[in-house]
Amino acid sequence: MTKYIFVTGGVTSSLGKGIISASLAKLLQARGYRVTIQKFDPYINVDPGTLNPYEHGECYVTEDGAETDLDLGHYERFLNTPTSQANNITTGRIYQNVINREREGAFLGKTVQVVPHITDEIKRNFRILGESGNYDIVITEIGGTVGDIESLPFVEAVRQFRWESGINDSLVIHLTLIPFLAAAGELKTKPTQHSVKMLLEYGIQPDILVCRTEHHLTADLRKKIALFCNVNVNAVIESIDASTIYDVPLLMLKEQLDRTVLSKLKLSSKNEPDLESWKDFLGRLKNPTAEVRVGLVGKYVELPDAYKSITEAFIHAGAKNECKVRVDYIHSEQLTKENAIERLKGLHGVLVAPGFGERGFEGKIEAIRYVRENNIPFFGICLGMQCAVVEFGRNVLGLENASSTEMDANTPYPVISMMEEQKNITAKGGTMRLGAQACDLKKGSKAAAIYGKQHIMERHRHRYEFNNEYLKQYEEAGMIPSGVNPSNGLVEIVELKNHPFFVGGQFHPELKSTVANPHPLFVNFVAASLAYARKS
Ligand code: GLN
Repeated sequence: MTKYIFVTGGVTSSLGKGIISASLAKLLQARGYRVTIQKFDPYINVDPGTLNPYEHGECYVTEDGAETDLDLGHYERFLNTPTSQANNITTGRIYQNVINREREGAFLGKTVQVVPHITDEIKRNFRILGESGNYDIVITEIGGTVGDIESLPFVEAVRQFRWESGINDSLVIHLTLIPFLAAAGELKTKPTQHSVKMLLEYGIQPDILVCRTEHHLTADLRKKIALFCNVNVNAVIESIDASTIYDVPLLMLKEQLDRTVLSKLKLSSKNEPDLESWKDFLGRLKNPTAEVRVGLVGKYVELPDAYKSITEAFIHAGAKNECKVRVDYIHSEQLTKENAIERLKGLHGVLVAPGFGERGFEGKIEAIRYVRENNIPFFGICLGMQCAVVEFGRNVLGLENASSTEMDANTPYPVISMMEEQKNITAKGGTMRLGAQACDLKKGSKAAAIYGKQHIMERHRHRYEFNNEYLKQYEEAGMIPSGVNPSNGLVEIVELKNHPFFVGGQFHPELKSTVANPHPLFVNFVAASLAYARKS
């Protein structure tokens, strides 16, 4: 029998529901429970695939090719288990399903309404993962802040779900803020009281309050919150600001969030959580023996959330190398032939980020020229790999104005061009080459050595590809296709023969890096940057 935990947020957005959900899930998993986390987002987009990264940060792609919210990345990084389309549902998807069924005549002449039809569809989706039989506990994070017009149907669905399920089969955790008023020198509980009142108006009594705070909560304050919000005092959980998100599971353990949850769900807490490898990771993260500075060249650098998985993959790879990775965010739009050397000097490695469209493209090319010519470790991801191919075409093969047809439809040398299968597609949502694809690695290549195997699966999200008409020319000049898709011959990895570390992948390795399994490409890129730092 699956148990359900709902996580809502109050007072403000950005309190970190995703991290709290992932941390609780980690603790429950470490006690031996099979746990998954799903996120319900209140916006009308069917999925975040069509959103600009400036809106909600990076789009996280799952194995099954779903374009999802970046919180799913946290779930995977913490739990080391894959998520899927079922783990991220939006208002848009709920309405789409209901409207499609209405068009099919499934409602038999009835008026289709928010209650019960939309809320029924939400509840059906709450249960899908639980009904798979694969999980003991399903944690559902409700996006947005309680009180928003947009998330009302989700909150109403939670109310109905709780009413319909057994008393010990579900619970609600409400995440709130306890602000510190510097002038008064005090933590204030009123916003939390009001936020809980609002939940009560919607018919939901939260079982547990997780209180974000900059200062420790005193026993008196906890009692006050408990009294005003109708919860047990041990259900008032402090969530103090942490220096790294990876501390949060241990902070929640100390606050006994997992114990309180298990006791309310009438589940056993006799197996103490096994967090040895997590603590080992934290130990290495916090005690680096070296430091490297890597540049992350991209056009969304004003918003670090746009590169969330890359930044986290650097943290995992850094810990593995016992090395602090300082990421220098470099705006590709500001890089020119003239200033590239000045801006990039002193870096021990450069990663050129994924992206879409022409803005900042030429700056990425300049960055790659600099690191290729100066033997500085280079790692290109998706568009970053395509830029490496263009740069090599222009500056090594002498293919003047070589480009990707995404940037220049009339380039004389389309070394990157649109995949055949993409040419007749006009709809934008969910139509790229998405999700896990197979790749064979070339024997003796750097890629094969890094992965330590011959066949890999990596996640994709793109429309353009290396143009195989140029393959021979590239190989002869030293840029080799070290990873190729076995079924369609698409080049998935390029590397330079005569360079200490120059690797570009058409896929997104950052999406598969977790605390338990740092991605080998990141681990080796950091190691190469460290070697460069030691030499220079
Ligand atoms: N814009 C490129 C393409 O569509 C790269 C995409 C990406 O970096 N994810 O192929």
